[in-house]
Amino acid sequence: MFDEIHEECGVFGAYNIKDASSITYYGLHTLQHRGQEASGIAVSDHGHIHVKKGKGLTIDVFTKEKLEQMKGNMAIGHVRYSTAGGQENANIQPIVARGSKREIAIVHNGQIVNEKELRVELEEAGCIFQGTSDSEIVLHMIQKEEGSLCEKVMSTAKKLVGAFSILVMSENEMYAIRDQKGLRPLSYTKMQDGYVIGSETCAFEVLGLYSHTDVLPGQIIQFKDGIVRKMIYDEQASNHMCAMEYIYFARPDSVIENINVHNFRKETGRLLAQNDDVKADIVIGVPDSSLSAAIGYAEQSEIPFETGLVKNRFVGRTFIQPTQSQRDRGVRMKLSAIPHVVSGKSVVMIDDSIVRGTTSRRIVRLLKEAGASEVHVRIASPIITSPCFYGVDTSTKEELIGARMSKEEICRYIEADSLEFMNIAQLSKAANEQGLCTACFDGNYCTDLFSYAKVLE
Ligand code: SF4
Repeated sequence: MFDEIHEECGVFGAYNIKDASSITYYGLHTLQHRGQEASGIAVSDHGHIHVKKGKGLTIDVFTKEKLEQMKGNMAIGHVRYSTAGGQENANIQPIVARGSKREIAIVHNGQIVNEKELRVELEEAGCIFQGTSDSEIVLHMIQKEEGSLCEKVMSTAKKLVGAFSILVMSENEMYAIRDQKGLRPLSYTKMQDGYVIGSETCAFEVLGLYSHTDVLPGQIIQFKDGIVRKMIYDEQASNHMCAMEYIYFARPDSVIENINVHNFRKETGRLLAQNDDVKADIVIGVPDSSLSAAIGYAEQSEIPFETGLVKNRFVGRTFIQPTQSQRDRGVRMKLSAIPHVVSGKSVVMIDDSIVRGTTSRRIVRLLKEAGASEVHVRIASPIITSPCFYGVDTSTKEELIGARMSKEEICRYIEADSLEFMNIAQLSKAANEQGLCTACFDGNYCTDLFSYAKVLE
């Protein structure tokens, strides 16, 4: 789908580790694919929490000098894509509250669907908000609850509904919290005398750490006094990992719920190729997220895999360019077809999904202009028919081509010679029948949607 859909955020934390802010910087840099709009790190020196954050990539926000000033052995960080809560500076994370008893910093990946109800409650209780993000709501709730920090975190988590992988840090403690449905990934692993926690395991591997433990749905992990304590705050928790994490967002070298993302994608390609009798000369993938599925399709179909499209990695993202003509130019600048590979060939083009359909049409045109005789599009996910309310910018229902058109109509619209999608049963098979959220494909949301339900009416 090439830039039509966006993950909201990535989080990373380092507990009881020398140079925690530098370690967090490396972690965030590895998670940069999850958000490129803003980046921030909060570090604790056991007296105070110090924060640096700003708009831009992690490498732009932090210099060596800035990191050297951020001393302490505990840190949390965040990379952000800014749809949730808007682009205000006040929404850039970590967000810090400085109370008379303690300071607390928070980073959050996901979206709380009962945020409006919680915000009204907090405002009626006298809380004043600086920004519009749901992360600030969580921070206020933690402050307002009774008891120890652990008890406050526990009772706050019980009141939240939606998608959240959250890290909370006080001057001396850290908490990793995952929502009751396990919608967003969150794992941790041992490093030196401490631990690192992150949205994806690729952020551990860059530090030379090759094993990890998942924070389970409905679980809180407390890091305190050098000890890790696991706590369940919801006994009814169940597994609904966002299918899009596997299909598109996560890096292929990450492992989610014990499944390597590259292997998942390869399997979707294999499943797509089964029972597909299309006659073609080559299989190509739309770089980068569709290459694994294209390899799987090629292996299963025994049609040769080729590199027919090349991505220019150093061009700005198309979505920040507002007009349609700018978007058109954007795709051309970002993606090129290789005439020497596709000319005169019948091509199977694998893409991970179709959102608005405009990008797919441009890519099909690129291939035909480069001389492809036929372009058969195969999509390594089901048709997207419903918006996401769990922290992913999938456009509104009106913009989703799958909500408006049949498969045949989409095929004509994108000017392909044929078009096929996966079905949800195949998707589940690729995930070893582990629970998945598939709401954007089938409209079955795994939580109450509160005020967001109105969008679907
Ligand atoms: S609705 Fe789609 S994008 Fe949103 S969490 Fe579910 S599977 Fe992921």
